[in-house]
Formats: sequence, C-alpha cells, structure tokens
Amino acid sequence: MRKINFNAGPAALPLPVLEQAQKELLDFKGTGISILEHSHRGKDYDLVHEEVLALFSELMGLPKSHSALIVQGGASLQFAMLPMNCLRAGQSADYAVTGHWARLAYEEALRVGAARAACDTAGLDGKHTRIPRPDELLIDPKAAYLHITTNNTIFGTQWRTLPDTKGVPLVADMCSDILSRPVDASKFALIYAGAQKNLGPAGLALIAVNRDWLKTARTDLPDILSYAVHLEARSIYHTPPTFAVYLVGLQLKWIKANGGAAGMEKRNSAKAELLYGTIDRLKDFYRAPVEKTSRSQMNAVFHTPSPELDDLFCADAEKEGIAGVRGHRSAGGMRVSLYNAITLDDVRTLAVFMDAFAKRRG
Ligand SMILES: *Cc1c(COP(=O)(O)O)cnc(C)c1O
Repeated sequence: MRKINFNAGPAALPLPVLEQAQKELLDFKGTGISILEHSHRGKDYDLVHEEVLALFSELMGLPKSHSALIVQGGASLQFAMLPMNCLRAGQSADYAVTGHWARLAYEEALRVGAARAACDTAGLDGKHTRIPRPDELLIDPKAAYLHITTNNTIFGTQWRTLPDTKGVPLVADMCSDILSRPVDASKFALIYAGAQKNLGPAGLALIAVNRDWLKTARTDLPDILSYAVHLEARSIYHTPPTFAVYLVGLQLKWIKANGGAAGMEKRNSAKAELLYGTIDRLKDFYRAPVEKTSRSQMNAVFHTPSPELDDLFCADAEKEGIAGVRGHRSAGGMRVSLYNAITLDDVRTLAVFMDAFAKRRG
C-alpha cells in the first residue's frame, strides 16, 4: 500500500507519472528497448530532451532573452557554478541569508571570490523564522548579483514578493518552489532548481538564464563548469542523466495538464490554507514558529508542546500511512512538504490525524 509522502526531497511524484514510467519501462514508445537503454545521442532520447527544455521554458514563461539548461550535480553544484561563472575578479556578490541553503550558497561564493550578506535573518538560536523586511535588505548597488532563496525548505519561509534590486541582477535558488506558482522570469538573470522537490527525481538541476548576462561570464573555466558550454551543447555536452530527464518530462506534462504554474498555485494555496488553518485552529496544541506573512506554501514547520510529543506525532502518523513529517534536525518539530504532487485529499487526511492527535494528547 502506498503511503502519503510528505518528504522534503526527494519527494512525492504524481501517481500518474510513476504509472506511466512503469508502463513504458521495458519498451519505450515501441522502440523495443527501455528509455534507460537508449543512447543520449539517438533521436528517441533527443526528442525527450528537447521536449523537457521546451516545456520548462513554456511553463516558466521564459522570455526570448532566456534559455533553459539541464545540468547534473543538483543545486549544490549551482552554489559553486554561479560564482565561478558570474563573479569576476574585483566584483562582489550579495546574498540574502535567509536559511540553511541560502547560507551554504553564500559560503560557497566566499570560496570563489568576494561576497557579502545583504541580510541575515538568523535569530539568536540560529533559526530563521521570516523573510527580511525591505529595509533590512541592504543591497550593494555595485554587486555582481543578488542571490535569494525563494523558498527556505528547512525553516519553512518563502518570499511572497520579489525584492526591488534597483538594477542589480537577481539570481534565485528555486529548488523547493519552482513551478509551484507563476513567477515573472524576466526579472531574473538566472534561476536554478534541483528537480527532486517539485519537478521530478534527483539527478539534475534545471536552470533558466539570461543569455545577455552570460556574455559577461568567465570563459576560462573547465568546460563541465561553464554555463556557456552547456548552453552551446543544448545541455548534452556529456551524457545527461537520461532517465531523470525523462521523468522530469513526464512531470512537466502533468503540470501542464493541471493548469501550469497558475494551476499549481491554486492547488498549493488550497493545501497550505487547510494545513495552516488546522495549526492555527488548534493553537493551544500546535505552534508554528514562522511569522505569518513569511509562511511557506511548500514546507510547513510546526511543533507540539514538547519534543517527546513531536516524536510520538511522527510515529503515530507513520502508523496511519503518513510518512515524512519529521522536521529537519536544525529546525526541530515537524515539517510537512506540500509540493506539487501532494493532493488536497492528502492534506485532508493529515488534518484529520492532527485533530485526533491533539484531542488524544492535548
Ligand atoms: C534541497 C535544496 C538544495 C540542495 O539540493 P541538492 O540537489 O541536494 O544539492 C538547495 N537549495 C534548496 C532551497 C533546497 O531545498
């Protein structure tokens, strides 16, 4: 029996996507071999690859100035590739430090060149519970770029509006909220996201980049680390993770069939309203540490009155077929991830469980 999977990543995939992959695993589209076995230079894989680049561009609403890329190595490679390509000697880059991953991105940039924290929202306990207020974000007008993490997966905060950078190129790590809502891609010089939260399985990052901005990038890099090389090679500079690309393709088609980014936002808002509504209604028992205006629609963090009850909550949930609700060790408590594949019915089941647990233990 399949469980309801609230894992933070790798995360739930839509059931129709898994079923389709199962159906055509042995014989891909009548070719007599699996997509796993096709050459990355053959025409059958090529159609899959091109379709992913085209669908991603379409669903993201990329303007003509921007191109889509597929690069292995996940988001963590992008933490390094971004400053290696786009932070030149004599320049400094700004980072909004709003959580765990945002800090890692910043620290990686410091290894490559000069970087500065445009804000740091960590509290005295090291936890982040909000997105910075506009007056807290001090952007260096000469910065090579400002890097933000649109959704902070571990602490459960999300930028609801984009900062005004006054002309400084904006770069975003969108790992945990990509295509969960519409964004104006033209406002970004570069967007990157590991696929394993909202777009498919682990194994690759999808990137949208403004080609004009790339013209100022460094070119004295190893090929494998150069955006320009991947762009020139249509993201087949070397063997791409073909099966992961194929699965991302299935999920992008599923997103399109369900109303695209706008459809996902509608679905995701309803799920988040139900979950946060349940937490707020049962506020004598559950506590959500994040400021209301900074709450993430993708990852909801909450606690019961004690760490012991948190443990019991996770164990009891598991017994009822609800998996993956334990919080990250740096945030504690519970974290429920409401990525695109999660249905409103999944959240209804969780809400009923939360009600019963609070009655039983409150
Ligand atoms: C998961 C995550 C990462 C790390 O992704 P990897 O693919 O494991 O490198 C980075 N940033 C954010 C916001 C994430 O949620």
